Parts: sequence; structure tokens; C-alpha cells
Amino acid sequence: MRSVSVFGATGSVGENTFDLLMREGGPAAYRTVALTGGRNVARLAEMAQALRAEIAVTAFDDCLPALRDALAGTGIAVAAGTQAVHDAADRPADWVMSAIVGAAGLVPGMRALRHGGKLALANKESLVTAGQLLMATAARNEATILPVDSEHSAIFQALVGEDMSAVERIILTASGGALRDWPLEKLAHATLAEALAHPNWSMGQRITIDSASMFNKALEVIETREFFGVSPDQIEVIIHPESIIHSMVGFRDGAVMAHLGAPDMRHPIGYALNWPQRLALPVARLDLAALGQLTFRAPDLVRFPALRLANEVMQTRGLAGAAFNAAKEVALDHFIAGALGFMQMAAVVDHTLARVSAETCLGNAADTLEDVLQMDHLARVRAAEAVTQIKGR
Ligand code: NDP
Repeated sequence: MRSVSVFGATGSVGENTFDLLMREGGPAAYRTVALTGGRNVARLAEMAQALRAEIAVTAFDDCLPALRDALAGTGIAVAAGTQAVHDAADRPADWVMSAIVGAAGLVPGMRALRHGGKLALANKESLVTAGQLLMATAARNEATILPVDSEHSAIFQALVGEDMSAVERIILTASGGALRDWPLEKLAHATLAEALAHPNWSMGQRITIDSASMFNKALEVIETREFFGVSPDQIEVIIHPESIIHSMVGFRDGAVMAHLGAPDMRHPIGYALNWPQRLALPVARLDLAALGQLTFRAPDLVRFPALRLANEVMQTRGLAGAAFNAAKEVALDHFIAGALGFMQMAAVVDHTLARVSAETCLGNAADTLEDVLQMDHLARVRAAEAVTQIKGR
């Protein structure tokens, strides 16, 4: 029986993973080692019981009593805190889903890779903050990273049987998010509710806002560079409002392979779960005649400066990804709290990168996880200072 663990089980990707595991037989088909969550302890306890997990872990110490109560008498072990989440990754499992949101997902994924096996990677922040380290850790331990971001899963699938030397370019599609047609003046006043109204995808709050600001696409561009090992000038972004083509690969003979499907995360999650097999999945089938047309347009770097910043990060590489992601997370926290305007998020990230690179060499290679975590910390401090300055303008 295959063993599985799900980090971030109570989130949007985690719920879709749980759905697939249960449809495939739940505890009759899988031995569930660890499930982790955050504040949604009731749901974590339900999932742990349904899958008969060995341990359920909440990332927050103050949630432990509620988790303990909910699982009393079930025989399922409980634990709480960041360290406990990291320790859960030390329990070997054949297949591990990395679906914690933000930089908090980095250490568990890295620790899981040490056991070999398969890491289904939804946590794009891991590749953005520590891409080279993560890939090297996977190679050293003969572990396989399977991309779960729909774009990267699409690219991965388009590359099956292909030689990377034949790849000319990778074309990432972007829905453009909730505010894609808004003029610059209006974007400056976009509210949280407006940014959360994603036209096609149902996702967690943070990634939905990142889609509206195109910071999500910026993270994905860096993720593409790190995961597929292509150079920045081989990566293109195209706005595709229908979200039917999930991404494309262009080859040196001029052919372009596109991956199409309904916007449903159970496709890339299921592909990673069943890989290298392709099994039946409960996703809607495309009716191309009903869709009628698919449209494309170039992204606007003035209204969405995140893409320009991503390009700078890719050119610098080294620790720049860690600084970029940390600054973005701080800016996003302030936007969610109503303390920062929508366009000010990019200003905070820009400002932070400039400040941090004046203090230290951002291009230095991240030799250890500690280097990455130190940069993450420094950038969060500088980003908080940048927020204060920019808010005052
Ligand atoms: P959600 O916000 O829906 O879920 C995040 C999960 O992480 C929850 O289980 C949450 O617990 C847990 N969590 C929150 N904070 C912490 C913390 N500090 N330490 C440990 N666990 C924590 O996120 P999504 O599912 O939307 O996204 C997860 C990852 O997948 C992100 O990296 C995102 O970019 C990526 N992704 C998501 C897609 C989607 O469709 N949603 C598509 C492609 C990639 P709780 O809710 O219990 O508090």
C-alpha cells in the first residue's frame, strides 16, 4: 500500500488532494502518514479520521487543545507548532503533497526530499526562494519533484518524451486575474473583495490576490526557470483569459505543444498522484465547440509591474528569489489588512529589493537553507520598513 502525507491539507490544494485520495479508496488504498494544517483544526481532525492518519499536526501551538479534543480516543497522534510540522516531514512517505502557503512550506518540502520518494510541489514559494538548493537536494536523494501548479504540470506533460535541448521557449499562460482589464488609475484603489473575485479558478485567498496583481505569475516565471532549467529569455507570459490552455512549450522546429483542460486543480494534483501513469480523473471534459474561441494578448508591464520585477530576480538569481518572495508576502499581508493600496504592493517589493541589494550581494548563491532563511528574515524587516515609508506618501 502506498504511503502519503499532505502538508497544508486544510487549504484549497489540500482539499482537492483529500478529495482524490478519498475517491481512490481513502484508507483502503493509502496509508496516510501525516496531515498538517493551520487554524482549521476541525477540518484537519475530520480529514485525519477519514484517512486514518498516523499523526495530525497544526502549525499553531494555541490550536493544540482543540485538535487534541477533536481526535481524543481515535488513536491518531497530535502535535503543534512549526517544529512539529517540520518533524512530520521526517516521517518517510512514498508521496508527499507540499501545499502549505508561503515560505512556511519550504522546510517541510526540503526535509521530505531527504527520504527520496515523490514530492508533489504546489508550494511554488519553495522553488522561488531556494530553487537551486531544492533541485540539488532532490537529485542527491534520488527524489522526484512533480509540479502541481497547473502551468508547470502542463509544461511537464508537454515535455514527456522530449529532449530539453530541443526546447526553444516556454509560454506560460495567465488568466490575468480579477482586475486584468482595469486601468492603472482604478487599480490603485482596488479593494480586497475586488481582487478576490477570480474569473476562473477557485483557490486560497493569498494566491487569488497574487493572481490579480500578477505576482502569482511572477512567482511562476521564476519557478519555471528553476524547475525546468531554462534561461530567462526562453520564458514568455501570455494573457489567456479563458484559462483553458494551461501553458505551452515551443520547440526548435517551430512546433508548439499546448496542454488544455478545464480549470480544475484535481487534474494537476491527480496527474502528480498517479504519475507516471495517467489514470481517470473526475474533471469536466472540454467542449471546444461550446467554448467557441480562445483568446490571447500580451501582458501590460506598466499595470502589472510584478512581471518586470520577476525578470530582475531571474537575472540576479542567488538569494534574490528569497528576498522577492518575503517582500511580496509582507506587502500582501498589509494589503489584506487594508493598510496598503493594490499598486503599492509592487512598490514595496521594488523598494525592498533595492534596499537589500545595497546591504548585501543578492546574487550570492544560496549554499544552505540557513542562507535562504536569513535572507527571508532580512527582507521581511526591510519590507516592513518600506511599507511604513510608502504608506506615508
Ligand atoms: P490555502 O491558503 O488555501 O491553504 C494553505 C494551507 O497552509 C492550509 O492548510 C493552511 O492551514 C496552512 N497554513 C497556513 N499558514 C501556515 C503556516 N504558517 N504553517 C503551516 N501551514 C500553514 O492555500 P492554497 O491551497 O491556495 O495554496 C497552497 C500552495 O499551493 C501555495 O503555495 C499556492 O501558491 C500553491 N498553489 C495553489 C493553487 C490553488 O489552486 N489554490 C494552484 C497552484 C499552486 P489552515 O487553512 O488550517 O489555517
